[in-house]
Amino acid sequence: MSETSTTLPLPDQAREFGFFVDGDYVMAGDRELFERSSPAHDVPVSKIVKCSQDDLNDAVAAARRAFDDRRWSGLPGAQRAAVLLKAAAGIRARAEELAYFETLENGKPISQSRGEVEAAAGIYEYAAGAARALHGDSFNNLGDKLFGLVTREPVGVVGLITPWNFPFFILSERVPFILASGCTIVAKPSEVTSATTLIMAEILKEAGLPDGVYNVVTGSGSTVGQALIEHTDIDMVSFTGSTAVGHKVLAAAQGNFKKLGLELGGKNPQVVFADANLEDAADGVTFGICFNTGQCCVSGSRLIVEKSIAAEFEALLKERFAKVRVGDPLDPETQVGAITTNAQNDTITHYMESGKKSGARLVCGGDVIESEHGQYIQPTLFADVTSDMEIAKDEIFGPVLTMHTFESVDEAISIANDTIYGLAASVWSKNIDKALKASRQIQAGRMWINCTLAGGPELPIGGFKQSGWGRETGIYGVEEYTQIKSTHIELGDRDHWLS
Ligand code: NAD
Repeated sequence: MSETSTTLPLPDQAREFGFFVDGDYVMAGDRELFERSSPAHDVPVSKIVKCSQDDLNDAVAAARRAFDDRRWSGLPGAQRAAVLLKAAAGIRARAEELAYFETLENGKPISQSRGEVEAAAGIYEYAAGAARALHGDSFNNLGDKLFGLVTREPVGVVGLITPWNFPFFILSERVPFILASGCTIVAKPSEVTSATTLIMAEILKEAGLPDGVYNVVTGSGSTVGQALIEHTDIDMVSFTGSTAVGHKVLAAAQGNFKKLGLELGGKNPQVVFADANLEDAADGVTFGICFNTGQCCVSGSRLIVEKSIAAEFEALLKERFAKVRVGDPLDPETQVGAITTNAQNDTITHYMESGKKSGARLVCGGDVIESEHGQYIQPTLFADVTSDMEIAKDEIFGPVLTMHTFESVDEAISIANDTIYGLAASVWSKNIDKALKASRQIQAGRMWINCTLAGGPELPIGGFKQSGWGRETGIYGVEEYTQIKSTHIELGDRDHWLS
């Protein structure tokens, strides 16, 4: 645990946020508040409103009006792009405030929050281009008398539910694309990390977004979240979170057959072949499981390593895990901060105990780090793991890596695919044949070769199997929030059916 003189100070008091409907914040009044404490310091940092069903209805009605009167979808893409570009500038202007609240509520290192905020501004800039690039198709091959058009139309009011692990970044991988498509939004952030979603409302308003296009309701998932996914005036739900809650979203969407985008959990393989640059692979695998304390849907949590180099690679990892700077997230030198919630801390400790009891060999870590405040976990490596063990099957969502070995490319692919999930995977090899064979046969929506957790908004993200439905970001990310209409146009006089 480290702390330097440049460590940012804690706030004097918790900041109280209103929720956001039809262009204005609504303060709590006589509604109950939810107080959030920094998971690293146990100090109150923010207060949000526990919204009621009536509050949700108001937000949905505002989004409905804003969609139906075409105040946003009726604008040229160029005007929507202009707002998104101003929003990007607004994010940069308030970057330090956004990064500070992200770190206070989530526990992630301030240097990482700053990077995520800057990257988020870039996503708005990319999506601005997409607002102008979005187009349909035409059919000029239907004969001289018939012409066909395929147009894309915004789906309507989107209910956007986001998790606590990347509150601002995940929001920013969705909102600019939804706005580029012409849809309107009712967002529901995680109750423990709502601040930056609420600050974004002000930034969008100042960028010129019409009232009612972006609304935010706050509160718990089981109350306002559940009410949102059941609301019959919502046309689509974009949900990012656990597979368990994803099942509830699926069930609730039945009411009015909502369109769904689901970005769920992962148990992502890191396949390391003997011919890889092992130093690079060890650095990448360490980053892939420790970044954001392993609380990433795409954390590389299953190491699948060629048997001939397994002992050497294990030693390289052990050395690197010991060097990771875990500590106060307000210290710019920190690489890994606090675990975000008490519940998640309990989950990770449960799995570390499960690993020890299951017969897996604990190479390093395996425990919490003693500290006066906050909850920190040592980067942990279990070797001799078999696929029937709980730690090999379940998404742990913490800095806990399981190590498996293989002797052939086919065996590596088979272990990689032995999971209900299919979110992301990495392959480390200098042999193009092996790397591409593995990358083509591993079932995952996102593949990395000789890297991990890399990329930008140009490429789409999303899962195979139980990791989800649909895609976010890239041009696909805008298309996701559209529906397709076919229009047939007859040219000239009609050949009459009745003579
Ligand atoms: P979670 O599923 O508990 O909560 C996600 C969101 O859903 C929160 O806003 C929560 O309040 C809300 N929610 C909870 N119950 C609800 C209900 N009944 N109805 C409607 N909304 C409800 O997930 P979490 O713990 O916040 O985040 C961790 C999970 O998210 C992990 O499983 C992780 O893999 C997943 N995740 C996936 C991606 C991805 O892109 N695939 C990205 C980040 C996180």
